[in-house]
Amino acid sequence: MFLLKMRNILSMSVIELVENNIIFGPVISRRFGTSLGIDLSPAQKQCNFDCLYCELAPALTVNTQEKSLHVSSIIQALKKSLQEHSNIDVITITANGEPTLYPYLDALIDAIKALKLEIKLLILTNSATLNDTKTYQTLLKFDQVKLSLDAISEDIFKKIDRPHKEIQIEDIIYHVKQFSQEFQGELFIEILFVAGLNDTKKEIARLNEVLLHVRANRIDIGTIDRPPAYPVEALSYEQLMDISLMFVPSLPIHIASRKKINTKASRYCAEEIVNTLDKRPLSEDDIEILFDANTKKTLQKLLHQNKILKIDRSGVIFYILEENLHRKLKKSVKVIDNK
Ligand code: SF4
Repeated sequence: MFLLKMRNILSMSVIELVENNIIFGPVISRRFGTSLGIDLSPAQKQCNFDCLYCELAPALTVNTQEKSLHVSSIIQALKKSLQEHSNIDVITITANGEPTLYPYLDALIDAIKALKLEIKLLILTNSATLNDTKTYQTLLKFDQVKLSLDAISEDIFKKIDRPHKEIQIEDIIYHVKQFSQEFQGELFIEILFVAGLNDTKKEIARLNEVLLHVRANRIDIGTIDRPPAYPVEALSYEQLMDISLMFVPSLPIHIASRKKINTKASRYCAEEIVNTLDKRPLSEDDIEILFDANTKKTLQKLLHQNKILKIDRSGVIFYILEENLHRKLKKSVKVIDNK
């Protein structure tokens, strides 16, 4: 009896602990605003990948969640958190693992939408479950979706992402392309580069080919920022910059990682600024890292002359040549006041 009581008390406290861990944040991000996170697997890692770079400990892959939260517990925790935190721009659905493995995702999204919050819904997924019709349809309900796509070659994909046995990269690519054509919200692609694996010219050329058929609002390229699950190396900011220049200029590439910035700000004349922006639009952060004070003044002059425009790509400000606005961009973008 005493043991039973103890077990009840223990299990209650475990449930409370888990329920307290469902919501995290708010986290302020320049790209997404103030975000409140929902962790759909707070108690353990449950993922269909076991990425080399994962910030969680290595774990066997699964293709369904073994332990799942109740939708009502999540909604209760969300409501409580929203009472404590106002001015939330986005609710981010994520997990210790892959959030689309959560079996009640569709019901959860409907329940959140029923709250009639004026807050965007974002999900971060590794793209592998897009081949499941139900998951695909659920993802279409989001305002923002971030899909990972680290490699195109089957062998490199398997080395980096270490997927569950039946997952094929061909299948992922097919569905990422299809989803991007159908999705009405903002779509972000994330590529995480690992030194010596997906950073070769050949693999980047293959990524280029595929991404030209993906309608993305932004393609974030990054590298390992936190201690990885396995001993792999990050790239430097300079290497990411070189990689960004290997993509076709019409692709909305954004360097999302500022890892190991050793670059000293340089002086560019007006012609060099124009030539650089002709290759790839630079974000505000890139400008801050690359341009010295004089170059920034020259940039301001070019802005006043309307030779360069500032555009907003889903929360990131980019500088682009005026002549490239229609010539090199595939999606229409919002031009913002230059001065
Ligand atoms: S998909 Fe995400 S959670 Fe899963 S192993 Fe990769 S990095 Fe970790």
